[in-house]
Amino acid sequence: MEMGMLLEISGLTSHYGRIQALKGIDVQVAEGELVALVGANGAGKTTLLRCISGVQGVTGGTIKFAGQDITRMAPEKRVGLGICQSPEGRQVFGPMSVEDNLRLGAYRRQGPDVKADMDRMYEMFPILHKKRDLPAGTLSGGQQQMLAIARALMGNPRVLLLDEPSMGLAPLLVAEIFRTIQALKDQGTTIFLVEQNAYAALAIADRGYVLETGAVVLTDQGSRLLNDDKVKEAYLGL
Ligand code: ATP
Repeated sequence: MEMGMLLEISGLTSHYGRIQALKGIDVQVAEGELVALVGANGAGKTTLLRCISGVQGVTGGTIKFAGQDITRMAPEKRVGLGICQSPEGRQVFGPMSVEDNLRLGAYRRQGPDVKADMDRMYEMFPILHKKRDLPAGTLSGGQQQMLAIARALMGNPRVLLLDEPSMGLAPLLVAEIFRTIQALKDQGTTIFLVEQNAYAALAIADRGYVLETGAVVLTDQGSRLLNDDKVKEAYLGL
Protein backbone atom coordinates (compact mmCIF):
# COMPACT_ATOMS: atom_id res chain seq x y z
CA MET A 1 0.00 0.00 0.00
CA GLU A 2 1.27 3.43 -0.93
CA MET A 3 1.67 5.95 1.88
CA GLY A 4 -1.62 7.57 2.82
CA MET A 5 -3.68 5.67 0.22
CA LEU A 6 -7.21 5.56 1.60
CA LEU A 7 -9.25 3.96 -1.15
CA GLU A 8 -7.69 1.43 -3.52
CA ILE A 9 -9.77 -0.19 -6.22
CA SER A 10 -8.08 -2.88 -8.31
CA GLY A 11 -9.36 -4.76 -11.33
CA LEU A 12 -12.97 -4.15 -10.30
CA THR A 13 -15.71 -5.74 -12.38
CA SER A 14 -19.47 -5.59 -11.92
CA HIS A 15 -22.40 -6.93 -13.91
CA TYR A 16 -26.12 -6.39 -14.30
CA GLY A 17 -27.11 -9.88 -15.34
CA ARG A 18 -25.12 -10.47 -18.51
CA ILE A 19 -24.28 -6.80 -19.02
CA GLN A 20 -20.79 -5.98 -17.80
CA ALA A 21 -20.97 -2.43 -16.42
CA LEU A 22 -17.38 -2.28 -15.04
CA LYS A 23 -14.53 -3.96 -16.91
CA GLY A 24 -11.57 -3.99 -14.55
CA ILE A 25 -11.33 -0.58 -12.90
CA ASP A 26 -8.20 0.68 -11.09
CA VAL A 27 -8.77 3.82 -9.03
CA GLN A 28 -6.94 5.22 -6.00
CA VAL A 29 -7.80 8.05 -3.66
CA ALA A 30 -5.20 9.25 -1.16
CA GLU A 31 -5.98 10.81 2.20
CA GLY A 32 -6.88 14.48 1.70
CA GLU A 33 -7.19 14.20 -2.08
CA LEU A 34 -10.04 15.41 -4.28
CA VAL A 35 -10.37 12.90 -7.10
CA ALA A 36 -12.86 13.32 -9.95
CA LEU A 37 -14.37 10.55 -12.04
CA VAL A 38 -15.83 11.89 -15.27
CA GLY A 39 -17.50 10.22 -18.21
CA ALA A 40 -20.61 10.24 -20.35
CA ASN A 41 -24.02 9.00 -19.39
CA GLY A 42 -23.94 5.23 -18.94
CA ALA A 43 -20.14 4.97 -18.62
CA GLY A 44 -20.51 3.23 -15.26
CA LYS A 45 -19.87 6.08 -12.82
CA THR A 46 -22.87 5.40 -10.59
CA THR A 47 -22.18 1.66 -10.68
CA LEU A 48 -18.63 2.24 -9.40
CA LEU A 49 -19.92 4.41 -6.54
CA ARG A 50 -22.51 1.77 -5.69
CA CYS A 51 -19.76 -0.85 -5.55
CA ILE A 52 -17.77 1.37 -3.17
CA SER A 53 -20.73 1.95 -0.87
CA GLY A 54 -21.58 -1.74 -1.09
CA VAL A 55 -25.08 -1.67 -2.56
CA GLN A 56 -23.94 -3.14 -5.88
CA GLY A 57 -22.43 -6.59 -6.20
CA VAL A 58 -18.82 -6.98 -7.33
CA THR A 59 -17.98 -9.86 -9.67
CA GLY A 60 -14.20 -9.50 -9.60
CA GLY A 61 -11.33 -7.42 -8.28
CA THR A 62 -10.95 -5.77 -4.90
CA ILE A 63 -11.83 -2.63 -2.98
CA LYS A 64 -9.57 -1.72 -0.09
CA PHE A 65 -10.21 1.03 2.42
CA ALA A 66 -7.42 2.16 4.75
CA GLY A 67 -5.66 -1.10 3.95
CA GLN A 68 -8.66 -3.31 4.78
CA ASP A 69 -10.38 -5.43 2.12
CA ILE A 70 -14.02 -4.27 2.05
CA THR A 71 -14.98 -5.82 -1.31
CA ARG A 72 -17.74 -7.91 0.24
CA MET A 73 -18.41 -5.98 3.44
CA ALA A 74 -22.04 -5.02 4.23
CA PRO A 75 -22.92 -1.42 3.30
CA GLU A 76 -23.74 -0.30 6.87
CA LYS A 77 -20.36 -1.51 8.06
CA ARG A 78 -18.72 0.62 5.38
CA VAL A 79 -20.63 3.64 6.67
CA GLY A 80 -19.21 2.75 10.08
CA LEU A 81 -15.70 2.92 8.59
CA GLY A 82 -16.43 6.43 7.33
CA ILE A 83 -17.48 5.87 3.72
CA CYS A 84 -20.35 8.33 3.30
CA GLN A 85 -22.23 9.06 0.11
CA SER A 86 -24.35 11.94 -1.07
CA PRO A 87 -26.55 10.12 -3.60
CA GLU A 88 -27.45 11.13 -7.14
CA GLY A 89 -30.68 13.07 -7.25
CA ARG A 90 -30.12 14.37 -3.71
CA GLN A 91 -32.81 12.24 -2.05
CA VAL A 92 -33.43 14.40 0.97
CA PHE A 93 -36.44 13.45 3.07
CA GLY A 94 -38.94 16.03 1.88
CA PRO A 95 -41.52 16.03 4.68
CA MET A 96 -38.85 16.09 7.41
CA SER A 97 -37.28 19.32 8.60
CA VAL A 98 -33.86 20.38 7.38
CA GLU A 99 -32.48 19.81 10.88
CA ASP A 100 -33.94 16.31 11.14
CA ASN A 101 -32.39 15.46 7.77
CA LEU A 102 -29.01 16.55 9.15
CA ARG A 103 -29.57 14.55 12.32
CA LEU A 104 -30.26 11.45 10.20
CA GLY A 105 -26.81 11.81 8.67
CA ALA A 106 -25.39 11.25 12.15
CA TYR A 107 -27.69 8.33 13.01
CA ARG A 108 -24.84 6.09 14.09
CA ARG A 109 -23.34 8.71 16.39
CA GLN A 110 -24.64 10.46 19.49
CA GLY A 111 -23.74 13.10 22.00
CA PRO A 112 -22.23 16.54 21.96
CA ASP A 113 -20.10 16.14 18.83
CA VAL A 114 -23.26 15.77 16.77
CA LYS A 115 -24.45 19.17 17.97
CA ALA A 116 -21.01 20.66 17.29
CA ASP A 117 -21.00 19.20 13.77
CA MET A 118 -24.46 20.53 13.14
CA ASP A 119 -23.29 24.01 14.16
CA ARG A 120 -20.36 23.60 11.79
CA MET A 121 -22.76 22.70 8.95
CA TYR A 122 -24.89 25.75 9.73
CA GLU A 123 -21.80 27.90 9.63
CA MET A 124 -20.77 26.44 6.29
CA PHE A 125 -24.31 26.56 4.87
CA PRO A 126 -26.07 29.56 6.47
CA ILE A 127 -29.16 28.99 4.31
CA LEU A 128 -29.68 25.62 6.01
CA HIS A 129 -29.62 27.36 9.38
CA LYS A 130 -32.15 29.89 8.22
CA LYS A 131 -34.44 27.13 6.98
CA ARG A 132 -33.66 24.52 9.65
CA ASP A 133 -37.28 24.11 10.81
CA LEU A 134 -38.82 23.95 7.33
CA PRO A 135 -39.58 20.71 5.49
CA ALA A 136 -36.61 19.84 3.30
CA GLY A 137 -38.96 19.49 0.34
CA THR A 138 -39.56 23.24 0.37
CA LEU A 139 -35.88 23.99 -0.39
CA SER A 140 -34.73 24.85 -3.90
CA GLY A 141 -32.74 22.27 -5.88
CA GLY A 142 -29.42 23.87 -4.99
CA GLN A 143 -30.33 24.10 -1.33
CA GLN A 144 -31.38 20.44 -1.32
CA GLN A 145 -28.00 19.56 -2.83
CA MET A 146 -26.27 21.50 -0.03
CA LEU A 147 -28.42 19.61 2.46
CA ALA A 148 -27.53 16.26 0.90
CA ILE A 149 -23.81 17.11 1.14
CA ALA A 150 -24.17 18.42 4.69
CA ARG A 151 -26.09 15.30 5.69
CA ALA A 152 -23.30 13.10 4.34
CA LEU A 153 -20.75 15.22 6.23
CA MET A 154 -22.73 14.65 9.45
CA GLY A 155 -21.62 11.02 9.18
CA ASN A 156 -18.07 12.27 9.84
CA PRO A 157 -16.71 10.71 6.65
CA ARG A 158 -13.15 9.61 6.07
CA VAL A 159 -14.09 9.76 2.42
CA LEU A 160 -17.02 11.66 0.97
CA LEU A 161 -18.54 10.15 -2.17
CA LEU A 162 -20.43 12.68 -4.28
CA ASP A 163 -22.64 11.45 -7.12
CA GLU A 164 -23.37 14.15 -9.71
CA PRO A 165 -23.83 17.01 -7.25
CA SER A 166 -24.36 19.54 -10.07
CA MET A 167 -27.10 17.55 -11.78
CA GLY A 168 -30.21 19.55 -12.62
CA LEU A 169 -28.93 22.80 -11.12
CA ALA A 170 -28.89 26.23 -12.74
CA PRO A 171 -25.39 27.47 -13.69
CA LEU A 172 -25.03 29.88 -10.77
CA LEU A 173 -25.88 27.15 -8.30
CA VAL A 174 -23.51 24.76 -10.06
CA ALA A 175 -20.70 27.23 -9.46
CA GLU A 176 -21.71 27.52 -5.81
CA ILE A 177 -21.75 23.74 -5.33
CA PHE A 178 -18.26 23.40 -6.83
CA ARG A 179 -17.00 26.22 -4.60
CA THR A 180 -18.42 24.32 -1.64
CA ILE A 181 -16.67 21.10 -2.70
CA GLN A 182 -13.40 23.00 -3.11
CA ALA A 183 -13.82 24.48 0.38
CA LEU A 184 -14.40 21.02 1.85
CA LYS A 185 -11.23 19.80 0.20
CA ASP A 186 -9.32 22.80 1.54
CA GLN A 187 -10.52 21.83 5.02
CA GLY A 188 -8.95 18.41 4.53
CA THR A 189 -11.93 16.28 3.52
CA THR A 190 -11.06 13.40 1.19
CA ILE A 191 -13.50 13.49 -1.73
CA PHE A 192 -14.34 11.17 -4.61
CA LEU A 193 -16.45 13.24 -6.98
CA VAL A 194 -18.43 11.68 -9.82
CA GLU A 195 -19.56 14.17 -12.44
CA GLN A 196 -20.87 14.55 -15.95
CA ASN A 197 -19.80 18.19 -15.71
CA ALA A 198 -16.21 17.27 -16.59
CA TYR A 199 -14.90 20.83 -16.86
CA ALA A 200 -16.00 21.98 -13.41
CA ALA A 201 -14.99 18.71 -11.76
CA LEU A 202 -11.50 18.53 -13.30
CA ALA A 203 -10.93 22.21 -12.58
CA ILE A 204 -11.04 21.60 -8.82
CA ALA A 205 -9.71 18.03 -8.73
CA ASP A 206 -6.17 17.03 -7.76
CA ARG A 207 -6.47 14.04 -10.06
CA GLY A 208 -9.06 12.70 -12.42
CA TYR A 209 -10.14 9.51 -14.15
CA VAL A 210 -12.01 9.36 -17.44
CA LEU A 211 -14.41 6.44 -17.69
CA GLU A 212 -15.73 5.09 -20.99
CA THR A 213 -18.09 2.12 -21.27
CA GLY A 214 -16.93 0.59 -18.02
CA ALA A 215 -13.17 1.17 -18.36
CA VAL A 216 -10.74 3.90 -17.29
CA VAL A 217 -9.30 5.30 -20.53
CA LEU A 218 -7.27 8.19 -19.08
CA THR A 219 -5.98 9.31 -15.73
CA ASP A 220 -3.83 12.29 -14.78
CA GLN A 221 -3.75 15.46 -12.72
CA GLY A 222 -7.02 17.39 -13.06
CA SER A 223 -5.34 20.36 -14.72
CA ARG A 224 -3.59 18.13 -17.26
CA LEU A 225 -6.77 16.32 -18.19
CA LEU A 226 -8.42 19.71 -18.73
CA ASN A 227 -5.77 20.43 -21.34
CA ASP A 228 -5.82 17.00 -22.95
CA ASP A 229 -7.02 17.18 -26.55
CA LYS A 230 -9.04 14.00 -26.33
CA VAL A 231 -10.76 15.16 -23.15
CA LYS A 232 -11.41 18.58 -24.63
CA GLU A 233 -13.00 17.09 -27.70
CA ALA A 234 -15.05 14.37 -26.02
CA TYR A 235 -16.11 15.96 -22.75
CA LEU A 236 -15.59 19.68 -22.80
CA GLY A 237 -17.14 20.39 -26.17
CA LEU A 238 -14.06 22.38 -27.25
P1 ATP B 1 -25.44 8.11 -15.38
O1 ATP B 1 -24.71 9.39 -15.51
O2 ATP B 1 -26.63 8.01 -16.28
O3 ATP B 1 -25.76 7.71 -13.98
P2 ATP B 1 -23.31 6.28 -15.27
O4 ATP B 1 -22.00 6.61 -15.88
O5 ATP B 1 -23.45 6.45 -13.82
O6 ATP B 1 -24.45 7.05 -16.00
P3 ATP B 1 -24.25 3.62 -14.80
O7 ATP B 1 -25.57 4.09 -14.29
O8 ATP B 1 -23.27 3.16 -13.80
O9 ATP B 1 -23.59 4.78 -15.67
O10 ATP B 1 -24.50 2.50 -15.89
C1 ATP B 1 -23.46 1.75 -16.50
C2 ATP B 1 -24.05 0.73 -17.44
O11 ATP B 1 -24.80 -0.23 -16.72
C3 ATP B 1 -24.98 1.33 -18.48
O12 ATP B 1 -24.75 0.66 -19.69
C4 ATP B 1 -26.35 1.02 -17.96
O13 ATP B 1 -27.25 0.85 -19.02
C5 ATP B 1 -26.13 -0.28 -17.22
N1 ATP B 1 -27.05 -0.37 -16.08
C6 ATP B 1 -27.13 0.49 -15.04
N2 ATP B 1 -28.07 0.10 -14.16
C7 ATP B 1 -28.59 -1.05 -14.65
C8 ATP B 1 -29.60 -1.94 -14.22
N3 ATP B 1 -30.24 -1.75 -13.06
N4 ATP B 1 -29.87 -3.01 -15.00
C9 ATP B 1 -29.21 -3.21 -16.17
N5 ATP B 1 -28.25 -2.42 -16.62
C10 ATP B 1 -27.94 -1.33 -15.90
